[in-house]
Amino acid sequence: NKALQLSGITKGYNLGKPTEVRVLNGVDLELAEGEVVAMVAPSGAGKSTLLHIAGLLDTPDTGEVKIGGKPVGGGDRARTRLRRQDVGFVYQFHHLLQEFTGLENVVLPQLANGVSRAEAEKHAQELLDRVGLKDRASHRPGELSGGEQQRVAFCRALANKPRVLLADEPTGNLDPNTSDTVFAALMELVRASGMAALIATHNLELAARMDRMVRLEAGEIVPA
Ligand code: ADP
Ligand code: ADP
Repeated sequence: NKALQLSGITKGYNLGKPTEVRVLNGVDLELAEGEVVAMVAPSGAGKSTLLHIAGLLDTPDTGEVKIGGKPVGGGDRARTRLRRQDVGFVYQFHHLLQEFTGLENVVLPQLANGVSRAEAEKHAQELLDRVGLKDRASHRPGELSGGEQQRVAFCRALANKPRVLLADEPTGNLDPNTSDTVFAALMELVRASGMAALIATHNLELAARMDRMVRLEAGEIVPA
């Protein structure tokens, strides 16, 4: 079963020039359920553009996105609903809410999705336990290390059990040792939940630990 299917995706920008610059030039990529794929790309290759299209934050010029085997169509409302249900995002910088505890940061997206507070807190605590933050749940982001904050962000991204996790340099701002621990935590969460993940990284060592590696090159996805 396919979690995410991108076919024939193209996207261009005008960049103030008379003719449009094609950033994506026919991207085809499929992720099976539970598959973790590394995407390596030089900066400027269109990695963020591709992740935004896969995550329904942006629309392609041509081509099709399917999530869970279903074509993503419809208006903005339908796309937003699907994005909230089926897609989790992780960025290089976590954007946690500073005035809330780690637990609350993982609880809030669940409340927004209609989960009861009791259920949401239980699930949040389970996720935090799994990434080694059992005793840190009541701390605010400012009281946590960079790696701990990023682990909270992973829990938040997975809080609503999305089908697909999209990560843009999830360990990019951490030192190598922390990066290793934090990456292991991410893999643990992803494996435990059985979701598919597309993880953009410059770190070839981390990339090699995923199920498969692809490269974004000249606007297309090619095997790495
Ligand atoms: P990457 O994430 O691989 O660095 P991006 O997808 O951010 O690449 O950008 C790819 C190219 O598209 C770059 O040349 C960038 O300047 C351009 N680009 C990205 N987003 C926009 C936008 N919203 N408007 C115009 N150009 C953009
Ligand atoms: P919410 O109201 O729960 O934040 P959204 O639909 O606004 O839900 O966003 C869903 C996810 O997409 C969130 O993880 C958010 O951080 C991310 N997101 C929203 N807008 C953008 C954007 N313009 N660029 C990058 N990420 C975005």
